[in-house]
Amino acid sequence: MKVLVAGGAGFIGSNLIDALLAEGHSVVCVDNFFIGTRKNIEHLHGHERFTFYEQDLADLAAVKQIFRKEKFDFVFHMAANSDIQASAAAPEVEYKNTYTTTFNILEAMRTEGVKRLFFCSTSAVYGDAQGAHVDENYAPLAPISYYGACKLGCEGLISAFTYMNDFHTLVFRFPNVIGPRLTHGAVFDFVKRLKADPTQLTILGDGHQCKPYLYVGDLVECITRFTKELPQGVTVYNVGGESQSTVTGIAQIVCREMGLKNVQFHYTGGRGGWKGDVPEFAYNLDKIHAAGWHASMTSDEAVARTVRDVL
Ligand code: NAD
Repeated sequence: MKVLVAGGAGFIGSNLIDALLAEGHSVVCVDNFFIGTRKNIEHLHGHERFTFYEQDLADLAAVKQIFRKEKFDFVFHMAANSDIQASAAAPEVEYKNTYTTTFNILEAMRTEGVKRLFFCSTSAVYGDAQGAHVDENYAPLAPISYYGACKLGCEGLISAFTYMNDFHTLVFRFPNVIGPRLTHGAVFDFVKRLKADPTQLTILGDGHQCKPYLYVGDLVECITRFTKELPQGVTVYNVGGESQSTVTGIAQIVCREMGLKNVQFHYTGGRGGWKGDVPEFAYNLDKIHAAGWHASMTSDEAVARTVRDVL
């Protein structure tokens, strides 16, 4: 297949491209390096089945031009503002990079006749709701971050475009993903700050924030497996691991993997790391489990592996 990976210079997108190329697909990556980097895709330079466009996906005319030229069979839409903490101070970043990029891709799919789509949604669409009852049909969906709100808006657009144009669409809602080429988040920050000062670490919140962390290799395997055959309409899955890691637990794993002892932890206090952060999270994974998929690593194993990846 000829596939578009929108946002493919980013963390998850670049890992997905490696897997898609390994499966024999031709990959066109479009990214404007808003968060992604040249370094993430530099190993693909000269690959005969890889093409790159440095392009802002919020520009509809340019997006349509790429679609007209490349004639895609499948679109993997990974582009978004992924730094939720940063957009808390500037919501328009979400409107442009999360919402508008999605509208433009859907509109280009409509006019150019592309029918198959994978979309990265997020557990942030559930807002503060958590627990075993939070399955794919949970309502009301009430996001508490601008990021979650724009992703939910994207899901609304995807529902309508899929219905109106007979698309085959897969939507994954997943929580924190970690692994090689990570750009932000607790694991990334802790490693970076402990490299600069191995004696102490400031931790946002009270350290009890507790979330599941999913290794990027597990997510990419799940994406490639479930996009092989897509039914018509929108299929939504919660995707994640069953276990969680606390922020203090992450700090301890990072110290252990870096061989650091007696590091002083300083807590800024409060329930969440920042406003819009969801301090504890777990949701229902019965649907993806019933479909035969389980994460291969626990959350703590994913954290430890990631520290070794990014060191
Ligand atoms: P990332 O920031 O590394 O990748 C997103 C890419 O999109 C970046 O390379 C960025 O430059 C690109 N991009 C953003 N706006 C663009 C624009 N206007 N034009 C062109 N390119 C643009 O983030 P990631 O962690 O790889 O996330 C990939 C997808 O998964 C995103 O949609 C994100 O919202 C979603 N997601 C990520 C996580 C996570 O923990 N990383 C969790 C849930 C959902």
